[in-house]
Amino acid sequence: MFQLHSLRWRIALTYLVLIIVIMAGLTFFLTRQVRTAALETLGERLHANAILLANDHPLREGLAGQRWQPGAEDLESMVKEWATLIDTRITLIGIDGVVLADSETDAIRLENHRQREEVAAALSQGQGESIRFSRTTSMDMFYLAVLIPAPEVTAAGVGVMRLALPLSKVEESVAPLRTAVLVGGLIAMLFTALLSIFIAERIVRPVRRLTHVATQMAQGNWGDRLYPTRQDEVGQLIRAFNAMAERLQIQMSFLQREQERLAIVLANMVDGVLILNSDGRVQMINPAAARLLHINAQRAHNLSFVQVVRDHRLVDLWQNAQQGEAQEELILEVDRRVIRALVTPFWDGLQHGYIMILQDLTQLRRLETMRRDFVSNISHELRTPLASLRALVETLRDGALEDPPAAQRFLDRIETEVDALAQMVQELLELSRIESGKVPLKLRPTPVSDIIMRPVERLLPQAERAGVDLVIDMQGGLPFTLADAERVQQVITNLVHNAIKFTRPGGSITVRASQNADNLDHVIISVADTGEGISAEELPRIFERFYKVDRARTAGGTGLGLAIAKHMVQAHGGEIWAESIEGKGSTFSFTLPTVK
Ligand code: ADP
Repeated sequence: MFQLHSLRWRIALTYLVLIIVIMAGLTFFLTRQVRTAALETLGERLHANAILLANDHPLREGLAGQRWQPGAEDLESMVKEWATLIDTRITLIGIDGVVLADSETDAIRLENHRQREEVAAALSQGQGESIRFSRTTSMDMFYLAVLIPAPEVTAAGVGVMRLALPLSKVEESVAPLRTAVLVGGLIAMLFTALLSIFIAERIVRPVRRLTHVATQMAQGNWGDRLYPTRQDEVGQLIRAFNAMAERLQIQMSFLQREQERLAIVLANMVDGVLILNSDGRVQMINPAAARLLHINAQRAHNLSFVQVVRDHRLVDLWQNAQQGEAQEELILEVDRRVIRALVTPFWDGLQHGYIMILQDLTQLRRLETMRRDFVSNISHELRTPLASLRALVETLRDGALEDPPAAQRFLDRIETEVDALAQMVQELLELSRIESGKVPLKLRPTPVSDIIMRPVERLLPQAERAGVDLVIDMQGGLPFTLADAERVQQVITNLVHNAIKFTRPGGSITVRASQNADNLDHVIISVADTGEGISAEELPRIFERFYKVDRARTAGGTGLGLAIAKHMVQAHGGEIWAESIEGKGSTFSFTLPTVK
């Protein structure tokens, strides 16, 4: 993984650049120092030689006596000899600057040297030196010149003795040192590079591991942790990181739990809930809302509310809430269901959101209607017998009392009415007790015959009087039912009683008990007659309290019998239903659980 941007390489390269700069500086400084020292030594050597040669007596004498012309042969050979001896270029210059002899070239060809820096210095101060390019030898030279003293001590100088060496000699002496420094530097650099990579790796490794674990966490794997092995800053960072991860994990799981709970609440709520964002897009819709509005919750997500509901009243409601920034409420009917819709704006981050609650009031409304009907039914049911009682009492008072046989007849009718009233009150009480669960059932394993026989036997005389056949058709080998025999007998009595009432003479009533082969959990008991039947639109309502199909015809009943039967069967854990073809007859059936 060679990435120049990585921390590891940044640290390593920084070290490397630093060491290169230091080594380069050191090399430069050292070679300069050595060169200066070498030049000094050279200068001293040349100076010593120059002084020695300048003090050569024959030379001083010759010069003082002006014995030599430039290029004089004996002088030249002397200079060359000296030059070979000390391996240095030697130039002999007259006091007027004219070059008299040179060990490297012909003196006559050389121009006057009076202005040369080292010569001028020697003439005026006795000694001078200079470094410059020599045209004669075509290289950089180190020149040193001294004044040649006159033979007599008091007199001034008689010429200038100049020695010169090429600078390359100096460079040569410096070169090995420079190489040594360079090689040393390179070795140090290599070593530092390796060391810096190692150090960088040590610093960076925990950071890389930390990155790995953090990436894992970002992907939702919370299990990974780093174990701090060091006490330094990196160790502290890892410890802090672990603490942070721990806290985050706790908070995440807390949030997740909250979210799950909220989701469960929303999913199981009876009320519909929709959340819209500021542009009216559906952000959340629970199953109840989807059911009430007949929409697919998954497909509705992020669609606009207008697209989803298509009911302008709900859209208007939301828009009103949006414009007024206040809660809006509406009760409306959707598909024969009464729904109360409530839109409340709220702050969703920096924007408005809207929560819409949909309550299904259908059941509540139905209950209200039922209660109202119930009260009016009771009043109605009471009014008829009370009115006839009043009429009977008035007739008695108006003179019928004087006629004992008539009075007797009236009293009989009063008794019948009072009995009917008493029965109604009795049934009402019974119903309300069953409804409020105050009738304790004595459930026992009971043979089906025990349930059927007794009520049928009791009602046989009545059936005979009505000219109707009453028969029992019981499947063999039925299991015991779990039932309160007395209560179930009451249900059968009710059903058979109704059947007798609504069947013309010559008809028949069959009480049947059977079991479905595919469901052995219960037995089915039914009472079928060949009577007048019930119309299809009345059929669903006959189990309601006070419901009578034809009030005039069935003035005798209270309309409570089937309601009581239904409650009783339900209390046993069974179901009751009716099938009927008008004019042909009806079948009332119910189920009873069997003993397992
Ligand atoms: P009631 O005590 O007045 O008979 P029920 O609740 O027992 O009241 O019956 C309700 C209504 O259902 C009756 O008024 C009648 O119109 C109808 N009904 C019940 N049983 C039968 C049946 N076997 N055949 C036709 N109609 C029936």
